[in-house]
Amino acid sequence: MDTEELRLAVYRAFAQTGRAPQVTELARRCGADAGAVTAGLAELARARHLVLDEQGQIVMAHPFSAVPLGFSVMGTGTLWWGGCAWDSFALPHLLPGEGEVLVATRCPACRRPHAWNVGPDRPPEGGQVAHFLVPAARMWDDVVHTCRHQRLFCAADCVDRWLRGTGSARGYVMDLATLWAFAAHWYDGRLDRGYVRREPDQAREYLRSVGLTGAFWGL
Ligand SMILES: [Zn+2]
Ligand SMILES: [Zn+2]
Repeated sequence: MDTEELRLAVYRAFAQTGRAPQVTELARRCGADAGAVTAGLAELARARHLVLDEQGQIVMAHPFSAVPLGFSVMGTGTLWWGGCAWDSFALPHLLPGEGEVLVATRCPACRRPHAWNVGPDRPPEGGQVAHFLVPAARMWDDVVHTCRHQRLFCAADCVDRWLRGTGSARGYVMDLATLWAFAAHWYDGRLDRGYVRREPDQAREYLRSVGLTGAFWGL
């Protein structure tokens, strides 16, 4: 089983349909049997190209998600779950030809609805802030939990209210322009053959280049 071909089949199915492909569909696309696909998915999960649940079903292939984590992303003909604030803002950069998508969510503190047209050319306007609860260095300890807690709030006081209400320690807060710049190129190449994940020092360099300080990495 060519796992790079399998990885591309997963990513392209998510991009085209907004849903995670089933094992039978992947087997057909890759001309492989179901057992080989299942083993290939497990290998891709070990390499952090995707996330599987306990039954081996695909939960995430960042920035795509098969499960709701607080965001929807609407394109011209496709509806995606946005994995988190970061993943939702990344999608228009990864989907050439889509232009602006509609990213929608609720403030976790007060449930006020928020929506932005997010495109590849400029950040959306708005005074809302993103709060990242888990430091980047620990994001893969439980990546679904991490994504579930990378959310957009009305403003800093709603972040404070949510932290008090949930008894959580403060994470990292950034404005929409920083979130957009951060999301813009993080996932470059994931829909192309031969994608290679960043090494930790390359990841830290990328974060610095978009203005995210060392606190984002280690808190
Ligand atoms: Zn709020
Ligand atoms: Zn995420």
